[in-house]
Amino acid sequence: MIDLHVHSTCSDGSETPEEVVSLAAATGCSAVALTDHDGLAGIAEARAKAESLGIGFVPGCEVSCAFSPGTMHLLGYFVEPGEGPMQNELTHMREERATRNERLVNKLQDLGLPVSLGQVQSAAGSSVVGRPHFAAVLVANGAATTIQDAFDRLLAKGAPGYVPKARIDFASFITTARASGAVAVLAHPLSLGLDPAGLEGVLTELAEGGLAGLECYYSRYSPEERAGLAEMARRHDLVATGGSDYHGRFKPDIFVGVGTGDLDVPDSALGELLARRPDTAA
Ligand code: AMP
Ligand code: ZN
Ligand code: FE
Ligand code: FE
Repeated sequence: MIDLHVHSTCSDGSETPEEVVSLAAATGCSAVALTDHDGLAGIAEARAKAESLGIGFVPGCEVSCAFSPGTMHLLGYFVEPGEGPMQNELTHMREERATRNERLVNKLQDLGLPVSLGQVQSAAGSSVVGRPHFAAVLVANGAATTIQDAFDRLLAKGAPGYVPKARIDFASFITTARASGAVAVLAHPLSLGLDPAGLEGVLTELAEGGLAGLECYYSRYSPEERAGLAEMARRHDLVATGGSDYHGRFKPDIFVGVGTGDLDVPDSALGELLARRPDTAA
């Protein structure tokens, strides 16, 4: 069992990079990828922990791409902290987030909700600030009952407090990832909000653009959905990957490795992904 989709305190997870790696090892994962949003700040710490525990480690990240009607998240794997095309793009995305966070605070305040930028920043600590931190503040201030309630009524796409963030187009992300020796995988494909025919069409475009894999084994998907996605991956010559999307207490029903209990991503997915790395890898 492996887990190729995990968040830490470096973005909007509640556990440190060391802690998520320890949890992965304790759950029985033979390898784990750290995939914080828009950044690589946790990679060194997570890797050191994985080495000390004797499990495999994959440096990664997750970004939001421009897409409608739903949301498109791409995972980048084998991307190292430091300089490079992908690394520079991530820095740019973090800068854009700062602007978005100010707009989000203003919008929520206009709706009469109790939230300030200072509160959100202290909820996030040194992390990349994301909507889950806004949700946590809304819960702490009594404006929502749970994180999920804050999203459903206020923060989710289509809800009154939604503010989009800057997004990269998927073709650029895939190209930039490959230029940095990394590979791109489509995260939680059902979030695209497409019917099966629509999904097939987008996968064709993504695969032509150099996509390496499809996240078929995902915590929130049923066995039938996972099997259907794995079949789609096979048809498009994409690696069938998977992960929990663990966020600690920000997604309290999801655990590292096992998701809500029945996740079991095959170890073979990692070897297949490694084989898709571009030759330009440094
Ligand atoms: P951001 O990058 O600031 O837009 O926040 C994105 C994060 O918010 C995702 O990684 C999820 O953890 C969380 N999120 C987004 N949409 C929802 C939703 N509808 N319900 C619960 N959590 C969500
Ligand atoms: Zn997240
Ligand atoms: Fe995501
Ligand atoms: Fe995620």
